[in-house]
Amino acid sequence: MIITLDPTASAEQIEELLRRFRRVGLSPAHEPGTQRVVVGTNDDELVAARLGLRGDPCIRSVATDALACPLVSRARRPEGSVVRIGTAGVGGERFLLVAGPCAVESLEQMRHSAQAVRRAGAHVLRGGAFKSRTSPYSFPGLGRDGLAILRQVGDEIGLPTLTEVVEVADVGAVAARADALQVGARNMYNARLLAALGRCGRPVVLKRGMAASVEDLLLAAERLALAGNEEIVLCESGIRTFETATRNTLDLCAVPWLKSRSHLPVLVDPSHGTGRRELVAPMARAAAACGADGIMVEVHPDPDQALSDGEQALTPAEFEALVRGLAPVVAAVGRTL
Ligand code: PEP
Ligand code: MN
Repeated sequence: MIITLDPTASAEQIEELLRRFRRVGLSPAHEPGTQRVVVGTNDDELVAARLGLRGDPCIRSVATDALACPLVSRARRPEGSVVRIGTAGVGGERFLLVAGPCAVESLEQMRHSAQAVRRAGAHVLRGGAFKSRTSPYSFPGLGRDGLAILRQVGDEIGLPTLTEVVEVADVGAVAARADALQVGARNMYNARLLAALGRCGRPVVLKRGMAASVEDLLLAAERLALAGNEEIVLCESGIRTFETATRNTLDLCAVPWLKSRSHLPVLVDPSHGTGRRELVAPMARAAAACGADGIMVEVHPDPDQALSDGEQALTPAEFEALVRGLAPVVAAVGRTL
């Protein structure tokens, strides 16, 4: 780390600062008369926090090359993490396919969706019971009835389930009925929800907020890990840009960026990332090519009748075609479906 001293710092204060580093076994380099102190450490942020450097009046700034996210950083687990969602693993050799409708609408719709995605090779069934929608007039989901349907269908079909949780009060109920919990884009900054998920006992799929930087996403993951839950899967699902041809701009640069800095697995959601059915399969292939650990795709038995996100949902046949087209790309990057 590089410390810039405050111009008012006295020689005694500087000497005391250097002693503090030496007491914890570090060797600070400081040329008398200059305002820089350089210290080599393996964990800049931890040292900065332990020594209280950022509150020190004789220090103007502390520059570290690491993000303040020691728990989720790649350095902590250079080999990467495999997170288990029921019987499925994400982050290993297998490229994970999460698929299902945006929202649980009925038992019949969920059964039909589940059969279709399993036939095509999906590993995890998705479906929202609690929806966080932008418009107050949009379908908000079936709530607890939707959770029960998702659980019933997941059990019938033999697929682990993923569903969104939107508020702290529902964490227990959702964790009791789903194999993994999703934090939606609108809730990525919700510190209370992340803290509550720290003790939920289920893996969490954490979606990048639509106006969140990749650093903010990692810091949200760090908050979750600090709260006690390290079973985290990151998910890039598009950000808001000046581009209006697509619902969001799918930021695939985020994938290798996140993979290089964090040990957590990374999913890509080309459905919300593009908002357009015809773009989902090409972006799914691109996600596999750039190193994602899997994709999450919305599939509906009859997209034109869907109560939410129908314009980006694939039909069962389109999802099957997506998986077929994905196979050679997944093989080319040394993974399996
Ligand atoms: C979804 O997955 O259907 C969804 C609504 O996600 P988000 O809340 O991240 O938009
Ligand atoms: Mn959706």
